Amino acid sequence: MSRRYRTTRRAFVGGAAASLALARPSFAQASANVVVIGGGFGGASCARALKWLAPKLQVTLLEPNKTFTACPFSNDVIGGFRAIEAQRFGYDKIAAAGITVAAQAATGVDVQGRTVTLADGSSLRYDRLVLSPGIDLRFDALPGYDEAAVEVMPHAWKAGEQTLLLRRQLEAMDDGGLVVMSVPANPYRCPPGPYERACLIAYYLKAKKPRSKLIVLDAKDAFSKQRLFQNAWTELYPGMIEWVSLSQGGKVTSVDPSTKTFVTEFGKHTAQVANVIPPQKAGRIAALAGAADASGWCAIDPVTFESKTAPNVHVIGDACIAGGMPKSAFSANAQAKACAAAVATLLAGGAPAAPKLINTCYSLAAPDYGFSVAGVYQPKNGLLADVEGAGGTSPVDAPREFRAREAVYAQSWFDTITAEVFG
Ligand SMILES: Cc1cc2nc3c(=O)[nH]c(=O)nc-3n(C[C@H](O)[C@H](O)[C@H](O)COP(=O)(O)OP(=O)(O)OC[C@H]3O[C@@H](n4cnc5c(N)ncnc54)[C@H](O)[C@@H]3O)c2cc1C
Repeated sequence: MSRRYRTTRRAFVGGAAASLALARPSFAQASANVVVIGGGFGGASCARALKWLAPKLQVTLLEPNKTFTACPFSNDVIGGFRAIEAQRFGYDKIAAAGITVAAQAATGVDVQGRTVTLADGSSLRYDRLVLSPGIDLRFDALPGYDEAAVEVMPHAWKAGEQTLLLRRQLEAMDDGGLVVMSVPANPYRCPPGPYERACLIAYYLKAKKPRSKLIVLDAKDAFSKQRLFQNAWTELYPGMIEWVSLSQGGKVTSVDPSTKTFVTEFGKHTAQVANVIPPQKAGRIAALAGAADASGWCAIDPVTFESKTAPNVHVIGDACIAGGMPKSAFSANAQAKACAAAVATLLAGGAPAAPKLINTCYSLAAPDYGFSVAGVYQPKNGLLADVEGAGGTSPVDAPREFRAREAVYAQSWFDTITAEVFG
């Protein structure tokens, strides 16, 4: 294990513990209404942290789904070695923590009146609003890809039915069939996710359909943990995965769902199974609240996570522009805690302290083959910037036993974060 790598893990454990444990007493008297929109990794974490930090706060969590289906590890479901049930989490424990959980979608935000409207027509007043709506797909950005096309060429970039659809399509495919995936330009949810997915689709193909191949059409020339992924492709799935980069003509310019065809500037690829990961933007409610900019994402103050355009509205998780921090569940959870501390401090009349945040992303190339990237971030020039020299990736030349251990750490990470957020 490299020295840089060890240092990062120690920093995470210490940092996560310190931020909540030290802050609680000074917030104990804060009493106000905080509404949190979105019961995923960011929103559920934030609601819990707010209630824990300032028990007198009235915290309401809005989430239309009765259960949450987690994206991390959903590629294992597609690879055929994990049940979708292991991805599902309820909200009972969050309600038991004293948070009002309303099974409602927010349909509008009146920033001046500090009011959220709900799908049933009712409304809620807030003193501070936290948005963690995750992503929406940009149906205006890839010609041919619309709401009907997702049923034929699944994205599986929101976990649940889409995950199962892609899995079923792989099961129904002939041995010798071609799978094609498209990957968008940055930024998008989970930078290493498409390449992990390529590995785990190849894992399934190698076992069940060894004459099949996978083409990854990419709108980028470089990606997260690239050498680690490419080494794994060579070692585990020789000849099965072809990565076509931007400069090799990998950018998809349109799709045709009637034939499952991907069109690039250099040609066409017709697939038997087509996985389109389209360009994305912040969940729609962010734009309705006036928090999203022309990029589709939400600019924030990196100390408080308050929107730069919508006062008293804070944005965390995939929806926000977090500088160097990737759009991951780990980031959303870390941002949620920092945001909760800032909101509680602001409501108590104080000045929030600048946070130091950590992210680690594990990827599996096979059930017993994992690796990771870690980073540390702090506010700088209006963004969350990488702390130079902190973090790093798993060593490129590690033995298989090391990769097997990282696969175990990945599972422990998932169990720990989901227990903290939903358990
Ligand atoms: C295939 C894949 C693999 C991944 N693997 C990893 C991994 O290994 N590690 C990792 O850290 N991250 C991983 N991620 C990324 C991770 O899933 C996201 O970064 C994380 O879920 C972001 O949290 P969030 O709170 O911003 O959004 P989400 O967790 O998506 O939560 C958003 C919630 O908001 C709700 N919502 C939206 N609009 C409204 C509204 N108007 N009213 C009420 N509720 C609303 C939604 O129903 C949803 O429950 C992966 C993603 C994918 C696609």
